[in-house]
Amino acid sequence: MMQMNEPQTCYDIVVIGGGINGVGIANDAVGRGLSVLLCEKDDLASHTSSASSKLIHGGLRYLEHKEFRLVREALAEREVLLAKAPHIIRPMRFIMPHQPHLRPAWLIRTGLFFYDHLGKREKLAGSNLVQFKPETSPLNKDITRGFEYSDCAVDDSRLVILNAIQAREKGANIVTQTRCIAAQRENAVWAVQLENEQGVYQVQAKVLVNAAGPWVAQFIQQDLKLKSPYGIRLVQGSHIIVPKIYEGDKAYIMQNDDQRIVFAIPYLNQYTMIGTTDREYHGDPNQVEITQPEIDYLLKVSNDHFKTQLVINDIVSTFSGVRPLCDDESDNPAAITRDYTLAVSQQHSAEAPLLSVFGGKLTTYRKLAESALEQLKKFFTTMGQPWTAHALLPGAENLVSVEDLISEIQTKIKGIDLPTASRWAHAYGTYVWKFLNYSSSVHELGQSFGHGLYAQEVDYLVDQEWAITSQDILCRRSKLYLEFKQDQVDLLDAYLLELHERRLQKDVA
Ligand SMILES: Cc1cc2nc3c(=O)[nH]c(=O)nc-3n(C[C@H](O)[C@H](O)[C@H](O)COP(=O)(O)OP(=O)(O)OC[C@H]3O[C@@H](n4cnc5c(N)ncnc54)[C@H](O)[C@@H]3O)c2cc1C
Repeated sequence: MMQMNEPQTCYDIVVIGGGINGVGIANDAVGRGLSVLLCEKDDLASHTSSASSKLIHGGLRYLEHKEFRLVREALAEREVLLAKAPHIIRPMRFIMPHQPHLRPAWLIRTGLFFYDHLGKREKLAGSNLVQFKPETSPLNKDITRGFEYSDCAVDDSRLVILNAIQAREKGANIVTQTRCIAAQRENAVWAVQLENEQGVYQVQAKVLVNAAGPWVAQFIQQDLKLKSPYGIRLVQGSHIIVPKIYEGDKAYIMQNDDQRIVFAIPYLNQYTMIGTTDREYHGDPNQVEITQPEIDYLLKVSNDHFKTQLVINDIVSTFSGVRPLCDDESDNPAAITRDYTLAVSQQHSAEAPLLSVFGGKLTTYRKLAESALEQLKKFFTTMGQPWTAHALLPGAENLVSVEDLISEIQTKIKGIDLPTASRWAHAYGTYVWKFLNYSSSVHELGQSFGHGLYAQEVDYLVDQEWAITSQDILCRRSKLYLEFKQDQVDLLDAYLLELHERRLQKDVA
């Protein structure tokens, strides 16, 4: 960690925010030869970027809002991202039950035709009609036919972490639990004040990138004391997680009477994730939580479609996030554009520029980063060319297939169970050997915390993936929080405390 008495460093770019857009820009920039610092006030991916529907998708419903640019870009990104990170992204088939009173078949067929052809598609299968047999279909018996198409599912928070790892490997300085509390222009550079547990320190930046997500406008107004070029609309979206309500690996896209759609998505083998909602949000983005009307809404949409009828007590867990959408003055929160806008502000050419990110999707983070760097080209005339389209993310190198990696882990680590080998292969890809390399049996992995979490993995997450608390490990580096009981969390907390103390003593020595 940077010391407060260290001589002041001037970075090419300081990025505010460790969500997908911040790490995406930091990674692209450092790979082009720029010096980069990224600061995140909490943990990486601790806000919107871990509260998504976890889809890399074109966004079929955005066609209804005529968002052709966004859909074309997002459709093409599915294949690009799938190739970059096949361990954390997988193709998924989506079934849309036909509800003729909501959308006529010709409209859906037209939409799916565009969906199949607007963006380049090599690995993902096209759309088709499906008939449901009442005896085998999980859907209510009055739903007899529908449509099927492809998109992808992603581990959203790990997409953030992998981009951060790659950025660090290329030389970026990524600091978490560090808030940018102010920044002032001092002619050609920004003087940026950062606050962490140890106090306040200052760095300089030639360009400041504001990727603060839901805080983007607030950061400009309160911390920079400037006027935001765009308004931001915060739209809450919530999900419920229930024990799986149907077998199989396909997702369902359910149409609702209010013209919205809700997904039911197979989640972590034993669950179904149901969401999302769209609700204008005026509270503190740090405090967002699912509301009772959202729970009722999601249960009703599911029960209107599936034979398995859910009640509130079936809910295992919920999560909620706020979409930071660029205000297009739409009356309906579901209709506000999901496209992104980048604003570069600089009153005269000698003044240090500010680039702010408004809106965006997980799916388009890489293209957003490329556009951001394109806009910054005039300030860094010698910087490198775009490089992220074909570069693999950490763990995808030498990955023949996730299935092969699972078998390899099971062969090398005697006694390891299949769910753990599978979790590791999906989360880390070939980076799993960074913490398993010198082990040949489960007994060599150190203390067991339950559900396949061992000390060796915890140490790796602390040393290499910025994990500090049990929540960082259980909620964002893995999704083990759904399995862990309180006494197991306490055990992990005690271990982490001891580990931090050991590390501190080592630093002092
Ligand atoms: C319910 C829901 C479902 C979604 N589903 C999908 C989906 O399926 N597919 C898809 O592609 N997209 C989806 N999205 C959209 C996607 O999740 C967001 O567009 C994306 O995560 C936004 O990332 P971000 O980096 O802009 O914001 P964030 O992830 O919120 O990151 C911003 C970060 O900035 C930090 N920060 C703020 N102020 C400061 C400061 N002063 N100093 C330091 N750090 C600061 C915050 O702590 C935060 O971590 C969904 C969004 C929601 C809410």
